[in-house]
Amino acid sequence: MPENDPPPVRLARFLDRTTAEGPGERTAIWVQGCSIRCPGCFNPHLFTIRGGTPTPAADLVARVLATGTAGLTLLGGEPFDQAAGLAAVAAGVRAAGRTVMTFTGYEYDDLRQRADPGVTALLAETDLLVAGPFRQDLLDHDRPWVGSTNQEFHHLTDRLVVETTPDRLEVTISPSGDVAVNGWADTETLDALLAGLPVRRGRR
Ligand code: SF4
Repeated sequence: MPENDPPPVRLARFLDRTTAEGPGERTAIWVQGCSIRCPGCFNPHLFTIRGGTPTPAADLVARVLATGTAGLTLLGGEPFDQAAGLAAVAAGVRAAGRTVMTFTGYEYDDLRQRADPGVTALLAETDLLVAGPFRQDLLDHDRPWVGSTNQEFHHLTDRLVVETTPDRLEVTISPSGDVAVNGWADTETLDALLAGLPVRRGRR
């Protein structure tokens, strides 16, 4: 591998198209590994860095561009725990004129003060940042896409607008019968909807 190649991304899930993870129709990538570990997180299976599929950034860029969607949303796990690889993905997507939205459990001020070139690069390649840890005592029932009221939208460019549409929940059933969900609904609603089904969750 040439010295300057970005590290591969630990990919947990790739969703070709969704309207539940940001403005418009987008492609979504969930990464494996989160060092923040918020109590009540909906994706505890993504905490460990063991698992996921190491995937070259260039492969992910090609997959995203092949979908023809308006842009890419990065979720976790924690995108900034593997910022260098994802910055390369985001750069490739934006170079093709698409937008990038990134969710993080870190605060924006914390990220801005890091002396980590990967973190700086991922911030520079993000149009809309949703920042802050999930707080199960502060559930947000009003704003789209976020889980708790402490989480903040940061428009790092003017290319993406926060919609006033309510949250959506998407349920995907593969030809083999696998059920996967993404988007947002409170736990009670989700449990009632999916009772008895073997479900892979990719919620925020
Ligand atoms: S909510 Fe996000 S930042 Fe918090 S533990 Fe879960 S994946 Fe990590």
